[in-house]
Amino acid sequence: MTLNSLENNWITEFPKPLIIAGPCSAESEMQMLETAQRIKESSAEVSLFRAGIWKPRTKPNGFEGVGAIGLKWLKKVKDEFGFKTTTEVANAHHVAAALDADVDVLWIGARSTVNPFTVQEIAEALKGTEKPVLVKNPVNPDLALWIGALERLLRQDVKNLGAIHRGFSTYQKTKYRNNPNWQIALDFRNQFPHIPMIVDPSHICGNRRGLAGITQEALNLGYNGAMIETHCNPDDAWSDASQQITPEVLAELLRNLQIRKSDI
Ligand code: PEP
Ligand code: MN
Repeated sequence: MTLNSLENNWITEFPKPLIIAGPCSAESEMQMLETAQRIKESSAEVSLFRAGIWKPRTKPNGFEGVGAIGLKWLKKVKDEFGFKTTTEVANAHHVAAALDADVDVLWIGARSTVNPFTVQEIAEALKGTEKPVLVKNPVNPDLALWIGALERLLRQDVKNLGAIHRGFSTYQKTKYRNNPNWQIALDFRNQFPHIPMIVDPSHICGNRRGLAGITQEALNLGYNGAMIETHCNPDDAWSDASQQITPEVLAELLRNLQIRKSDI
């Protein structure tokens, strides 16, 4: 089996485009439930609720996530509001805990995709899972590492795969926190047209004002969805405050998107 022969029907179980929203980090039960409730009330388009439980911070002493207790809050979000849920896994312990808590979709973060040992460990822990696994591009602009991560998963019989384009870090200051380098993601899509591609405008932009433009651009390029960090009180978020938006601002962003008729 190769990446090209995958059917990837998992995405058809979600509304089109697949909209993933929720906070960068789970902070408290109240923050999770309030964010979920306000998303539910304002945006019918959101079908998957995200929250980072284990946070890969660039430097020590930052908030590194609430840990496994956050899985209980994700479960509450699922039970109370009917969202499917997703979180980042970065080692075999995370995978075991997330599978045990029945998180619906897992993602591998940009700092993990760069490390073949880490990806291999995660892939082995996931062996044979039917759950969709989304792989963010590596932080550096290296298409082969991105593809290699997906191949490692496939070798462990993980067949429901997707890719998240979250931009690439550069030393130069640009208007983006992570340069989109659209061509890399397009090369990926050309090689693997059946692997769903999700844009993550939040980590590309690093600010709020660019989110709508990047999301629209990705949809125009035929992407299958977007993951947008959404927080009940973004200014006070414990991570990525400058790029998170309220559920109501998210609703407006989604209302204004032009969605191709062929994509509905
Ligand atoms: C995140 O989604 O909050 C995150 C840490 O993303 P990335 O791995 O893209 O930096
Ligand atoms: Mn984040």
